[in-house]
Amino acid sequence: MKKAMTISYEIGDSLYLNITNKCPCACTFCIRGNGDSAYGSEPLWLEHQPNINEIKADLDKRKLEGYKEIVFCGYGEPTCELELLKQTAEYIRSRCKTSIRLNTNGLGELINERSISKELSGLIDCVSISLNASDKESYDKVTRPSFKTDCFAAMLKFASEVKSYVPRVMFTVVDIIGEEETARSKALADSIGIELRVRAYIAGE
Ligand code: SF4
Repeated sequence: MKKAMTISYEIGDSLYLNITNKCPCACTFCIRGNGDSAYGSEPLWLEHQPNINEIKADLDKRKLEGYKEIVFCGYGEPTCELELLKQTAEYIRSRCKTSIRLNTNGLGELINERSISKELSGLIDCVSISLNASDKESYDKVTRPSFKTDCFAAMLKFASEVKSYVPRVMFTVVDIIGEEETARSKALADSIGIELRVRAYIAGE
């Protein structure tokens, strides 16, 4: 496994942020299983957990206002480092008006043992939540979470709540789940009033 301090990396017109490698899941499709990097980036396995000063120093090398979007993503679940996530978003906000997206597994409330939706208000423009499946059984098979509680229900609860605090919320599924499961996922997303995006399996987003 190759490691580096790749805190930010570019994909197309967007800047992606890799603030942690922590994650309570072990998704079957996780890009971490495909190699040490995404889209030709430097290795995304971090040599150590960066602090806010390291993240600021990394961002200071970038022209943040020039990106279409800045995305918390990387080789881990960003809400595992919620304070760092918020501090980083605040810093980006202080420097530019570029839209900020959080890609998350939606388990931030279980991870942080409290409701976190309100804390994202004013910092995050878009939350993209991995729906992954249309029911708990399929979800658990795909995401293999370390929590023993009902993670599918927790993820849906977070999605419903965060709509009140963030301008745009979307669900994602990967295309490998097939047409029928995608249709069931779409019906579920519709019932909650959240758009569904179907993304390609190879995507590191
Ligand atoms: S939640 Fe994201 S980082 Fe964690 S295992 Fe799943 S795909 Fe990988």
